[in-house]
Amino acid sequence: MRYFRHGVYWFVVGLGLTSLAAAARPRAGSATARVERYLRSIRNQPPLLSAFFRRMPKGGDLHNHLTGAIYAETYIHWAAAAGDCVRLADMTAVRPPCGPMDPPIRNALRQSGLYTAILHAWSMLGWNPARESGHDHFFATFDKYSLAHAHHFGDMIAQVAQRAARERLEYLELMDTLDGSVASHLGMQAGWTGNLAQMRRRLMRAGISHAVAAAQARLNRGEVVWQRDLGCGTPQARPGCGVTVRFLYQVIRALPPQAVYAQFLTGFLLARRDARVVGINLVAPEDGYVALHDFHLQMQMLDYLHHRYPQVKIALHAGELNTRLVRPRNLRFHIRQSIELGHASRIGHGVDIMHESHPFQLLREMRRRNVLVEICLTSNWSILGIAGRNHPLPIYLRYHVPVALATDDEGVSRSDMTRQYVRAEREFQLSYATLKQMTRDSLEHAFLPGASLWRAPEDFHPVAACAAGVLGARHPAPACARYLAASPKARLEWKLERRLRRFEARF
Ligand SMILES: [Zn+2]
Repeated sequence: MRYFRHGVYWFVVGLGLTSLAAAARPRAGSATARVERYLRSIRNQPPLLSAFFRRMPKGGDLHNHLTGAIYAETYIHWAAAAGDCVRLADMTAVRPPCGPMDPPIRNALRQSGLYTAILHAWSMLGWNPARESGHDHFFATFDKYSLAHAHHFGDMIAQVAQRAARERLEYLELMDTLDGSVASHLGMQAGWTGNLAQMRRRLMRAGISHAVAAAQARLNRGEVVWQRDLGCGTPQARPGCGVTVRFLYQVIRALPPQAVYAQFLTGFLLARRDARVVGINLVAPEDGYVALHDFHLQMQMLDYLHHRYPQVKIALHAGELNTRLVRPRNLRFHIRQSIELGHASRIGHGVDIMHESHPFQLLREMRRRNVLVEICLTSNWSILGIAGRNHPLPIYLRYHVPVALATDDEGVSRSDMTRQYVRAEREFQLSYATLKQMTRDSLEHAFLPGASLWRAPEDFHPVAACAAGVLGARHPAPACARYLAASPKARLEWKLERRLRRFEARF
């Protein structure tokens, strides 16, 4: 523990956060310093921490899988209304007709035993570490409830946006395979030659534009439902209407190369054409056979398509591994290759960073390239069993690699963004200034277009146009107003500053 002159102290977490603390040290008597003192006073009282972080503005959630964000209670409700059944052998939702071994899910609304059994199978609520790994229970949930969200794309967005508003988030990037399986089917039909240029031409001729159109049609339909669900544009508009929602097209890394490539191509074309889609991501367990076997090939695909469509932003899950899941050689290169060959400007998880070859060089490289790591603490604990002193978050902070907290799958994990902040505070004793920096970075590294409010990465001094006057003022100076009008990203950052100022003024 280390004390500074004006009474603000910083825990130095084993590895030493001295330089970070110095960089983020607030002015004595400032609003930030008052919040810092309050946070220090409640540090060991989780209920008060929850209340504190519930109120704190949190910027954006950059790592959020739409289907994993919905709580199982909602899925049960939707599946019951659709007349679906549950196959008792593995608690998977199946289509009617129902029978004795696969009764109607609506029975669960009257039979609490069945209701609980489904909740357990469809979320981490039922995880028994003695019987099954968190990893296996977690990843098994998705197939079990997938039927339940078949016709609820827009409803899911509405729920997640409404929850985000209550969590005082202002921005979401939701991951979804927006075309369903159109691209992957097309890819399977097209076959595979291994020549990326030739395969791109073949997929274009085979009609990959249909996958792009299918994704846009799904977005159009979803948007209507989500706006209607929340009453957006009416006097009864719910707070979720105020959350800016964008999408990442997610590619399934467990599929054969021809399907993965067709999905990548769809994602790149879609992100170029439709402003609602701001980038792509690569999902499914990183330790699966195909994911490991094809890892390098998938990075080569990204390299090729990145050079073809350089404006499309890429975020990649990488390093969501531990020493039990894979052989040592699979721990050595995923993060580095995702950045250097896959052109990821954000890394999801990055938990195994210290097992990479030359980890310290890689950390410095991430800082130099301004690559942000999406930190998903609840998820890392339940899937990988990694938390506290085994988690690399303090190392990223020490090396000034930008980080932001994210939920990953808040429904399956039965969590939310507030709990990520509580966890960060409980496990790492972070200062308010550090948490605020992470919040700012969650918007700074959003794939939303436009210039930043800040003059340089990790600097957090406004650009010249917005340097005069109060940061986040309701009525910015004319030059700043013009700057904000031209940049969706800077507008959100400005709004976050206003909310932070109001939040800090309470203390
Ligand atoms: Zn994820």
